[in-house]
Amino acid sequence: MPLLLPAPSLPPPPSALVRSTAISDDATASSSPLFLHTRLESLLDREWRRPTLARAVHAQVLKHGLQDDVGLAIRLHAHYVASSSDIDAAAARALFAGVPKPDVLTWNLLLKACASAGQQRQCLHLFAIMVSGTFVPDEFTIPVVLNACAAVADLQAGLAVHALAMKSGLCGCPYVTSALICMYAEFELPESAQEVFGMAPERDLATWNSLISGFAKHGDYLRAVAAFARMRCDDVAAGRNALSSAISACGRLGESGLGRAIHVLVLKSADSTREDVSVNSSLVFMYSKLADLDSATRVFSSMSCRNPVTWNSMISGHVLCGKNADAWGMFMEMQLQELEASGITFTTMLTACEWPAEGRMLHGIVIGMGFAREEIVGAALIDMYMDHGSVRDARKVFDELPTRKEMGSWNSMILGYVRNGCPREALDLFFKLRSAALRPNTITLVGALSACASLGAAQMGRAIHDYVVENRIEVDLILGTSFIDMYAKCGAVERAREVFEGMPKKDVATWSAMISGHGMNGQPEAAMELFERMVTVERIMPDNAAFTSVLSACSHGGLVADAWHYFEQMEELYELKPEAEQYACMVDLLGRAGKLEEALHFIEQMPTEPGVSVWGALLGACRIHNDMALGAFAAERLFGLDPDDAGYYVLLSNLYAAQGRWRDVAGVRGLLRSRGLRKPPGRSWVYLHGGVHEFHVGDESHPQADMIHAKLEELGEQMRAAGYVADTDLVLHDVDDETKAGMLSRHSERLAIAFALINQEPGETVRVTKNLRVCADCHRAAKLISAITGRRIVLRDARRFHHFEDGRCSCRDYW
Ligand code: ZN
Ligand code: ZN
Repeated sequence: MPLLLPAPSLPPPPSALVRSTAISDDATASSSPLFLHTRLESLLDREWRRPTLARAVHAQVLKHGLQDDVGLAIRLHAHYVASSSDIDAAAARALFAGVPKPDVLTWNLLLKACASAGQQRQCLHLFAIMVSGTFVPDEFTIPVVLNACAAVADLQAGLAVHALAMKSGLCGCPYVTSALICMYAEFELPESAQEVFGMAPERDLATWNSLISGFAKHGDYLRAVAAFARMRCDDVAAGRNALSSAISACGRLGESGLGRAIHVLVLKSADSTREDVSVNSSLVFMYSKLADLDSATRVFSSMSCRNPVTWNSMISGHVLCGKNADAWGMFMEMQLQELEASGITFTTMLTACEWPAEGRMLHGIVIGMGFAREEIVGAALIDMYMDHGSVRDARKVFDELPTRKEMGSWNSMILGYVRNGCPREALDLFFKLRSAALRPNTITLVGALSACASLGAAQMGRAIHDYVVENRIEVDLILGTSFIDMYAKCGAVERAREVFEGMPKKDVATWSAMISGHGMNGQPEAAMELFERMVTVERIMPDNAAFTSVLSACSHGGLVADAWHYFEQMEELYELKPEAEQYACMVDLLGRAGKLEEALHFIEQMPTEPGVSVWGALLGACRIHNDMALGAFAAERLFGLDPDDAGYYVLLSNLYAAQGRWRDVAGVRGLLRSRGLRKPPGRSWVYLHGGVHEFHVGDESHPQADMIHAKLEELGEQMRAAGYVADTDLVLHDVDDETKAGMLSRHSERLAIAFALINQEPGETVRVTKNLRVCADCHRAAKLISAITGRRIVLRDARRFHHFEDGRCSCRDYW
């Protein structure tokens, strides 16, 4: 009986097909059976991904009467199995129907064949069939199957195989031990890996290697370095793999001392280790990460042979140290030497692009060299464009990626949108990701939450919170702090506090987020109480950011004495030097309280040169209190510093406009233009029925535009009847008062309020979010609208919350 089953519906191989597999009749005609066997077997072992090959080889086998050759038969079957999408138990058993005595060896061959062909699920399936029969796996079976479990991320199966190996007494074998350690490292279960290692009766170099490289590969650098140190104590000579892993881990940990000690070890080892490319490349990598370019260069120049990893490490070291021109030089050298650049090379070079044209040039090179289709390069291109503010170019790169399976490209887009003031687009993309059945990671969630915070979209934020709970995603410090920030900025300060109190671990950033949360929601007392609890009960050292939080809380509440108390504490109690931000908070506070002279005196006493934020705060205060002389003085200092925030120019032109000094207004506008700056357009958002509605000043594009303008007309009449006169000082243009009033009534926040009034249920609170500060006229209008309609209106602007009710605002007109 022939060993090989005829394959079902096997067509006779066309001669062209046979030739294409390089086993033409000419080559095989005069060969001995043994030669033919070896040739066909190695062909099958090499070319796993060619579905047509099995048939061609099969034809040769039949032609030369090699049907009884077990090795060939198993490999051929494995090829058929690998190219078919699924296989049932009966078919698998049929594979062995012709084998006189199928043994473990035969099975191992089949399993290994499947695994090499990348058919890991088939491999697991066949293994299940194998052990359900009378076959007992041996020490060569288990590693293949464990690898397959890791490859398909099936921990349950992995645990079952581990149990089976224990039952079969195979756990002491070095192969099995190494494979188990690798698998647990792959599942990021370092404790289990360590346990397997601890129970191993004998530990050879391979066992240590699996442990160290397993930890290093999965970012557990501390454990990798610790294991390396223990290996040395056990007097096992470090192999090249263990050395490379430990050296790279030191680089990532910034462990300069230990890294150098291992370098000494390398210098004292045998030539083969000392001159090894991967060991030396990891040394270059480590010194680059440590920003020690001299040492990196020394190792680099001593290498007789270098690989792309070596070059990439050198380039990234130069970028890290800000030597972008040198990085470009090395990149060119790589091209001259015709070395193969990789995706990593380009992602590094993209971070070295300082201006847009440079980035575009590199983009062109990336396309030319065929790397634009790689996701990691795509993500770097997106980051580069987003950093230069070219949101549209970034989106184009994203849309043109052939696959978007990695989180990197999505995260770059979402965070880039948030950075560039497009929170609505960020959220749209986040929901698209969810509907593509991809799993967001912590970075994605932080990006989405920050978009919700900018929009004031509490409901969406809550939906993300539910998602995190349902999917048991670990809420670490960063994610927890993002939740607090989001809820606080959406006005749900109680919910923020709940999350805060529920966090088992909090760092100073978590406390600061909660303190500013209370501040911006008009609860300065709660903010100060929390600050006291942080320093006295929890004994957490405040940093400058924590003081900014508590000082701005005092500022929101107009608490001048308390602010002085905290400001003086900084140096006296905590030896913290106040920075520009804290000085600006104080100037803002004094200025708003009308103590303009005191604010100026405070600035004059500053030990450092006052910066843009300090003069900007004084200018803002001058605008509120209409102090033209001091305002002009502050503006002169401010513009001498060349600020790139258009908001300051607007402040000054508002100040001039209020005095009717139109020529000066035009002068400021000219300055703004000549510096290439644009006033950021005012935008307001309303969250309604699961969607976000966006409004710009004078917006006619909304489908309900007519209804909105009619509503504003109607409200305007009622407001005038209640004694409202538009504060036309606030309009910049030199036009008559009636036109000015019309311009004010089309501010984005007013359009948004009217839209919400039309579409929401009566009695429901109107919630609007604005990207800039609310103007004084809209503030007055909102108070009146709340009285006329009897509705609560919550308006969040760039600085704080305004709760309007019965004609009053929670900010007590102090913002
Ligand atoms: Zn307004
Ligand atoms: Zn207010």
